[in-house]
Amino acid sequence: MKHFIDRARAAYLGLAIGDALGATTEFMTPGEIKAAFREHRRIVGGGWLRLKPGQVTDDTEMSLALGHALLTTGGWDLGGIADNFLAWMKSKPVDLGSTCRRGIRDYMLKGQLETPYNEWDAGNGAAMRMAPVALFTLGDDAELVRCAAEQAHLTHNHPLSDAACIAVGRMVQQAIQGCSRFDLHAITRDLAAEHGNFRFNDYRGHSSAYVVDTLQTVFHYLFTTGSFEECLIGVVNQGGDADTTGAIAGMIAGAFYGLDAVPARWLKKLNGKVREEVEDQAVRLVELSPWMRRRRTDEGH
Ligand code: MN
Ligand code: MN
Repeated sequence: MKHFIDRARAAYLGLAIGDALGATTEFMTPGEIKAAFREHRRIVGGGWLRLKPGQVTDDTEMSLALGHALLTTGGWDLGGIADNFLAWMKSKPVDLGSTCRRGIRDYMLKGQLETPYNEWDAGNGAAMRMAPVALFTLGDDAELVRCAAEQAHLTHNHPLSDAACIAVGRMVQQAIQGCSRFDLHAITRDLAAEHGNFRFNDYRGHSSAYVVDTLQTVFHYLFTTGSFEECLIGVVNQGGDADTTGAIAGMIAGAFYGLDAVPARWLKKLNGKVREEVEDQAVRLVELSPWMRRRRTDEGH
């Protein structure tokens, strides 16, 4: 059981580490990264946001805001999530994507909890905050699907974003439960069977905020590397939306390879308060999950 909880902690830590590591190379091309770093592999901050080493961005901050709402209520609370997103927006975060900003503004002005379908909403802003949803709904796929779409639609309403959120959530959940690399790959094949755009066997190196490019980048490096560290290094050296590809690769690879695979030097560099918060949320969100509730019932008999 500790094993599972450690994998959940590694998923949430992986998200924050990928965000902090990737923010340095966000919007750079692979050539620019090579010229500046040879290979980018240390958490050093900087980047276009001029971050401190170990500082995280919207990917981690929105996840924490979402997770905090669930832990405050002890249940699924879309209004609470929207309130926390709004409070976060008002705190003048270091970064906030335009689609997320529009959704949060619509909630502020109209109380709108579901943004209407928009063909331009296939960005990665909803998928990047799936870690707390995956932990909270662990052990119940129908709940995962419902909660993934509901939280996504606060800001993004597009079938490709929805499908990406669900696939990322499933990969994190399966990995926490100790699945094989083949099982993870099967989830990507199901996704590609439904939406052919997500096929990644002829990966062409596009790493943008378009959720298809984002997941192709994550999948390519997840399945062509053999460790948490090499997966994240591959993803962030691809540049583009590197903090978000880093965050999503980090949550899946963290869950898959486990806590022992997370390099100590990255853990040490991650902002201390963020590290404490993500680990605390990870443990408490799993405590609330259907998987844990079932275990407690079983033990009670
Ligand atoms: Mn970001
Ligand atoms: Mn980003």
